[in-house]
Amino acid sequence: MEIVVARNSGFCYGVRHALQLTRKTSQRYKRRIFSWGEIIHNPEVIGQLARDGIQVVTSLKALRAGDTVIIRSHGVSPVVYQALKRKKVKLVDATCPIVKGIQQTIEKLSRQPGEIVIVGNKNHPEIQGLLGYARGKGKVVENEEQARALPFRKKRAVLAQSTQERELFNQVVAALVEKTAELRVYNTICRFTRVRQEATAELAGKVDALLIIGGKNSSNTNKLYQISRRLLPRTYFIQSPKEIIPEMLQGVRIIGLSGGASTPPEVIRQTVWAIRNSIKQNSPQERVDYD
Ligand code: SF4
Repeated sequence: MEIVVARNSGFCYGVRHALQLTRKTSQRYKRRIFSWGEIIHNPEVIGQLARDGIQVVTSLKALRAGDTVIIRSHGVSPVVYQALKRKKVKLVDATCPIVKGIQQTIEKLSRQPGEIVIVGNKNHPEIQGLLGYARGKGKVVENEEQARALPFRKKRAVLAQSTQERELFNQVVAALVEKTAELRVYNTICRFTRVRQEATAELAGKVDALLIIGGKNSSNTNKLYQISRRLLPRTYFIQSPKEIIPEMLQGVRIIGLSGGASTPPEVIRQTVWAIRNSIKQNSPQERVDYD
C-alpha cells in the first residue's frame, strides 16, 4: 500500500505563532498561566499544555490580578479584551495576525453605513470575536439559504470566517448580490486554509481512501473532511491513529492523509507509522510520498 500525505498538512502559521508565544510565556512566568478558551482546537495539544500548567479558562471569576492570560489564536471581542484588562491580568495576545486583520477590517466597516455579513459558524470563537468588532451591525450567515432569507438592503459588506470554504462563500455572495444594491465583498479566507483545502481536494482525486486527521472541534479540519467526503466517499475523520480500524484500510492500494491547520505534525507521522505497522505483513512494497 502506498501512503501519500497532502501538501501543507499540519500546523499553519497562526497556530505555530500562538504555540511559540505560549511556550515563551510559560518559560517566563512559570505559574498561574491561563488561556482564554482553547488556544487552538486540538485536544492532544490542549492536554499537553494542561500538563505544562496552562489551564483553559472562560470565566473572569477564575482569574485574579497578576495572573497571566493568553488570548487564543481565534481572538476575542473588544468587550472580552477590555474585561480582561480591567481584571489587571498580564495579557499575552496570541490572536493569529490574519484573524487580527479581519477584526480590523470589521472595525473600520462598523464606522461606515451598511450591514456587515460574516459567513461562518455562529458558535465558533473566531466569529464571536469578529461580531464584537461589528458593534451591533454584524450578522452571521451560515449558508446560502440564510443569505436568501435576508431582507433587501442598500449597503452591505460581506466577509468570511478565516477557515471558510470558498465554494460556500461564493454561494452566499451570489445570494447577497440579489439582496443588496451596493455590496462590498472582502475575501477574508486565509490563504493557508485555501492551500490546505486545494491540496486535500487534489489528493482525494488520486487515492482510494483518505484519512483527515485533527481535532473534531476544529473548524478547518471539519471543512477538509467535508471537501474530501464530497469527492471520495471513503473519507474518514480521525483525531489520532488510535482511531484507525481495519475497514478503513481494507482493499486500499493508495491511502491519503491530510491534517488540519491545528494538527501537530507528529500526529501525522504517528498515523503513517500506525498504517505501516498494520499493513506490514501484507504489503512488503509499501511507500510513503509527501504530495
Ligand atoms: S488557518 Fe489561517 S487564520 Fe486560522 S490560525 Fe491558521 S493562519 Fe491564522
